[in-house]
Amino acid sequence: MNKAESQRIASYLTSAGYQAAMTPQNADLIILNTCVVRQSAEDRVLGTLSLLKGLKHKDLDLSVVVTGCFVDSNIEGLEKRFPHVDLFFKPGAYFELIDWLQGESELPAPSPFPLPSREKVKVSVLPIPISPCTFVPIIQGCNNFCSYCIVPYRRGREISRPIEEIVCEVGELSMKGVKEVTLLGQNVDSYGHDLPGELDLADLLAKLNDIDGIDRIRFLTNHPKDVNLRLIKAMASLDKVCEHLELPVQAGSNDILKAMRRGYIVEHYYELVRMIRAYIPEISLSTDVIVGFPGETEEQFERTFSLLEEIKFDVVHVATYSPRPGTIAWREYEDNVPSEVKKRRFNEIEALQANIAAELNSNLQGKSVEMLVEGKRKGKWYGRTRSNKLVFFESSDLSELLHLDQLVEVKIEKTSPWALQGVVASKSHA
Ligand code: SF4
Repeated sequence: MNKAESQRIASYLTSAGYQAAMTPQNADLIILNTCVVRQSAEDRVLGTLSLLKGLKHKDLDLSVVVTGCFVDSNIEGLEKRFPHVDLFFKPGAYFELIDWLQGESELPAPSPFPLPSREKVKVSVLPIPISPCTFVPIIQGCNNFCSYCIVPYRRGREISRPIEEIVCEVGELSMKGVKEVTLLGQNVDSYGHDLPGELDLADLLAKLNDIDGIDRIRFLTNHPKDVNLRLIKAMASLDKVCEHLELPVQAGSNDILKAMRRGYIVEHYYELVRMIRAYIPEISLSTDVIVGFPGETEEQFERTFSLLEEIKFDVVHVATYSPRPGTIAWREYEDNVPSEVKKRRFNEIEALQANIAAELNSNLQGKSVEMLVEGKRKGKWYGRTRSNKLVFFESSDLSELLHLDQLVEVKIEKTSPWALQGVVASKSHA
């Protein structure tokens, strides 16, 4: 989400005539887009703000703007704490930045493309495509209040963007060469519940599937209590919707899930995975897991471990619990799992997942996969399969430009838990 928002801000500034500075010392304007999902991230924001204070003392013409989750509803309080910051604006409230910049320098408004529900904004905030893949936020905020999470307090309640606006934006992106869009939201499955009519994510996917030039559609993040049969059927039937689902389970013990306030039980999660695999046999599944949640016993951890062993996800993002001031878990539970125990559980899951991913990826050895070429890294082209697996291939100089931003068929010659290597078999689309 932050990446998508930074892209939009950069896009506006570029269209308004700004150029990127090579270093903060050379900049006239610094915009800090913050993430505070963990306390360590918030500490880094504080560190950076103090560095910027030093810069501002040396260069009085420098403007400093702060956005992202660090900016809570108490903007006055932030202004008092950090008087060297010229503007704080809430995540997604670009109109405040634009008003301020226009007031500062009488910037002209670039091409018209209104922001969601902000009539006063008459400027383009489409991201400038820097690759054939782009993020498109569709819903902001979260209504769930998982006990460990700060997001609902910082991003507020869910607000969906109107469906026509998203369709229009994706249409424009396709004309700029974008081939793959990833729809973003803290909980994309809630999309549309606050809009008039009976719209949901399945309706949005169907509309986007009809847009010429877009080859792939992804969406994240999902909530296991909100993924339903209608969405699964839409995924199975719409040819551009990729066979990949990010479905955070967080824990394999019902007691821990209850303490986390996740709103589902493990049995529901297993049933959901069974249903998804029945409709979309080639689905690639990713998940998130937290180890060392307050009170997590060895037996409860083993349940998480067994769930991962049994389901065999393609990717597992594992994190050790750390209390986040302001959350329910921070208020109500003691962070009583010793850090060495958290670390061991973390390592056990990482090792398990490396074996599972190695095994799943080795099944692709010798097979052809479709990948969208995104760029070059260390002399090799890279991109992702529809199932979101990272693929690298080498090619002769002459054919290089033919591959960039294109869908190509790659024959897989080597696999590892983290990536695939292959050779180009053919170009999928002219
Ligand atoms: Fe946080 Fe839970 Fe909402 Fe995800 S669903 S953003 S973990 S409160």
